[in-house]
Amino acid sequence: MNDDQTMNDMRETLAEIDTQIGTENTQKGKIDAKTNLLGLEIKALKDFFVSFGEKPFRAIQVFKWIHQRGVDNFDAMTDLSKALREKLQQRAEIRGPESSYDQCSLDGTRKWLLKLADGNQIETVFIPETDRGTLCVSSQVGCALNCRFCSTATQGFNRNLTSHEIIGQVWFASRHLSQRITNIVMMGMGEPLLNFDAVVAAMSIMRDDNAYGLSRRRVTLSTAGVVPQLARLSLAIDVSLAVSLHAPNNVLRNELVPLNKKYPIEILMQACKDYVADDRGNPARSHRHITMEYVMLRGVNDSPKHAKELIQILKGVPSKINLIPFNPFPMSRFICSEVHVIQEFQGILMRAGFITTIRKTRGQDIAAACGQLKGQITDRTKRSERMKQLYLKEEALWTEPQQVVC
Ligand code: SF4
Repeated sequence: MNDDQTMNDMRETLAEIDTQIGTENTQKGKIDAKTNLLGLEIKALKDFFVSFGEKPFRAIQVFKWIHQRGVDNFDAMTDLSKALREKLQQRAEIRGPESSYDQCSLDGTRKWLLKLADGNQIETVFIPETDRGTLCVSSQVGCALNCRFCSTATQGFNRNLTSHEIIGQVWFASRHLSQRITNIVMMGMGEPLLNFDAVVAAMSIMRDDNAYGLSRRRVTLSTAGVVPQLARLSLAIDVSLAVSLHAPNNVLRNELVPLNKKYPIEILMQACKDYVADDRGNPARSHRHITMEYVMLRGVNDSPKHAKELIQILKGVPSKINLIPFNPFPMSRFICSEVHVIQEFQGILMRAGFITTIRKTRGQDIAAACGQLKGQITDRTKRSERMKQLYLKEEALWTEPQQVVC
């Protein structure tokens, strides 16, 4: 990519980000003829019952039927009177996404492409381990942020998911898995903090004891660094935070994560410190650390010098570092750092006192690792078309095959 193309693409990305930040709160999904109860937090569900003269405690009964027992049929709710079930049938529905693709990896990772009512598709991935089962959930159809190493970014952006489409992924997976979901990470398609209200509503259902009952350590929101929304998040809900850092200085991060031009590293790090420090006057709420995600790109961000810069910028930020071996995808120009380079990078960070893990790559045989899945997106940004044209042009110039060793 030459400098002019990079600058043009960067300008378009920042314009898309601005547009999306401006419209975030106006996109709450379609108003259905019937209320879809799936996305209602307990307070909203109580209000719904009160609105047609029912007692609020009915909401708790229905909430449990939906989220703890996975029921989508009011007739199955046997502790409700027949008259109430009939009223509910007239006014409401419980409608989750449908699976259009379901595949299981050799390592047990399971991937779904889920079809939404408007025909768009999103990705949801379940990663089983011996002591836990983690569900990776999407927050948007596509993504406007255009991180250079991300497969989702190449598809452009269409719209925010509604709260019922977000929690619907958890509800759907719970109904289709034999293993319990013990952890949820908002790390699928999209930037969760650019779909704030719907994401917070869905996470509140994840945390509710009458629904999925997950503790704050088991629900993680991952952000590229939408700084103004971090303070809002701290006020709205208590969850764990991960930051997609990926570069230790502004020059490189501007290139890899274009959002950095809007919120540079020093501002982002201060926001992280504030997030950790803000316990809302309740020590039980204190966040012990933030997970810093750092994708390992060969020859780009993986030198000892980069590790030392990373140590400098993370000074005073209570953090754990997660090194992520890059998963190549078509149209990506990066390759993964070599194993010994990743280990050396990890060693430097650990010697400086940072807990540093290397993420295990999962689901490679079904392209289910982070950023590898593709849904069908009506791309309002036309970015996928631009990327295709650019890729074809560069392919014509570049005949040497890429060697991927990861
Ligand atoms: S890494 Fe996350 S924020 Fe960046 S483009 Fe991909 S989905 Fe969006």
